[in-house]
Parts: sequence; C-alpha cells; structure tokens
Amino acid sequence: MNVRNCKKCGKMFNYMGGPPICQACKEAAEKKFQEVKDFVRQNKTATMKEIVEACEVEQRQVEQWIREERLVFAQDSPIQLSCETCGTRIATGRYCEKCKKDQANTFSAAGRQPEAAPKAADKKDAGPKMYTFHK
Ligand SMILES: [Zn+2]
Ligand SMILES: [Zn+2]
Repeated sequence: MNVRNCKKCGKMFNYMGGPPICQACKEAAEKKFQEVKDFVRQNKTATMKEIVEACEVEQRQVEQWIREERLVFAQDSPIQLSCETCGTRIATGRYCEKCKKDQANTFSAAGRQPEAAPKAADKKDAGPKMYTFHK
C-alpha cells in the first residue's frame, strides 16, 4: 500500500496515482471547479481577479483548469488566452486548433527521421518557427 501525505491538506491517504491529493480534497476541487465553471458562464466578462475572489479559488488552480481545457471563456471575456505558438486568440487550453494539428504532424514526422532524406527536405521542412509570445 502506498501511503502519502495530501499535498493540499497534509492528511495521510492511500495514494492511487495521479496528483498526490486525497479523495476529500479531490472532491472539494471538483466541486470548486463546477462553481467556477458556473460563475464564468454566468459572468462572461469577469476578470481573473473577480473569479478568484467570488469563488474563493486560487488563481493557479484556475489556470490549471484552463490548461486542461476544462474552462472555456467567452469571446468578450477580459481573460484573453492566446496560442503559445502563433498567438491566435483561443477560448481555452494552450494552443489553437491549427497548432495542435501541426504539433501532431510534427510528432509523427519526427518518428520517421526526416533528416535521413535530405533531398526530400524543401521549404515546408524549414524547421519550427521560433517565435516567442510574451503575455
Ligand atoms: Zn487532502
Ligand atoms: Zn496557434
């Protein structure tokens, strides 16, 4: 049996994999998520600060839900998320649909070792664009 201390409340619990958080804290987080989700849906123009204050939730936790694509923001929300690769406005997550697709293609292409066939390399394979976007 794998016993650990919960990262949130410090209580010992039977660790089953995933984040080291006990069942009670997991359920509390899930309840909080529903609360935040409802709040965001009803208050489409709420800022991050308003969400954190109204729902009594940590901003870090909200950001995690965004990265997990669980929280989706309206077009007119002041919380403007942009694709980490191309900067396009997105509603949730970290990348736009196009970049997600590109990444999937890149990963499958990497498995085929493209450098082994230099003649086939054309402009299309000029390598990843090294743009950095600052928030
Ligand atoms: Zn706990
Ligand atoms: Zn993108």
